[in-house]
Amino acid sequence: MNNKILWDCHMHSAFSADSETPMEQMIEKACALGLQGICFTEHLDPDYPPTPDQLDFSLDMKTYIETLFFLKEQYQERIQVNFGIELGLQEHLGDFFRGLTQTAPFDFVIGSSHVVHGYDPYYDDYFAGREEYDCYREYFESILENLQSFDGMDVYGHLDYVVRYGPGKNKEYSYGIYSDILDEILRTLISRNIGIELNTGGYHYGLGEPNPCVDVIRRYRELGGEIITVGADAHTPDKVAYAFDKAAAVLEQCGFRYYTVFRSRKPEFLAL
Ligand SMILES: [Zn+2]
Ligand SMILES: [Zn+2]
Repeated sequence: MNNKILWDCHMHSAFSADSETPMEQMIEKACALGLQGICFTEHLDPDYPPTPDQLDFSLDMKTYIETLFFLKEQYQERIQVNFGIELGLQEHLGDFFRGLTQTAPFDFVIGSSHVVHGYDPYYDDYFAGREEYDCYREYFESILENLQSFDGMDVYGHLDYVVRYGPGKNKEYSYGIYSDILDEILRTLISRNIGIELNTGGYHYGLGEPNPCVDVIRRYRELGGEIITVGADAHTPDKVAYAFDKAAAVLEQCGFRYYTVFRSRKPEFLAL
């Protein structure tokens, strides 16, 4: 177990459509691993297109809040439990997310691209009959579009999520091939004081890299980026704090001496 990164700031429970794990089980696992804190970031993806497996990415916010704050108190002697959300960004949702983030008492808001112009790359349809390069590039373009419509998130989630699902995954993918648009994204984030996350989901998807990949994280640091949270994107207890030893090594190798945790929407910098 790593002893450098003691917060897992991206995780789901049964409040998310794609998880069936009760919150308590995620918290118990985090306690067993000796984490200092966790942040639940349940999915809210309004206007998510119909899926083959008929998932419903809406979120019962009222019950989510009640359950989380009840458990937060119950576990307060053992672990800190923060209240977050993962917003599924689409260009037309800016006003809705502005309203939501100004009224709900979040500790932490991740903005993520899941749906690109009506398709989630998680499903093969997004890639059908097209070059992988064009699909990846369209994903990055949509990040810039999303940031034009809404920039009220604390970090942008798993910046290169699309490569988890491409036909060749990350075999042909590198920072260099997309450096123009990735730099534009990173500069935009930095200028608006939005961080990125190191999402270790890439390791359990077999990429051998986090999302975004190490070279993008290094580039973010080079361009002056300082805010970076760490999350395993766990949907089941076995993935809590997954590959956090690797995450710590990557951050150090990229020039970070701190990682970031958000409380009441404010960044706190914890030494590695
Ligand atoms: Zn996500
Ligand atoms: Zn997630």
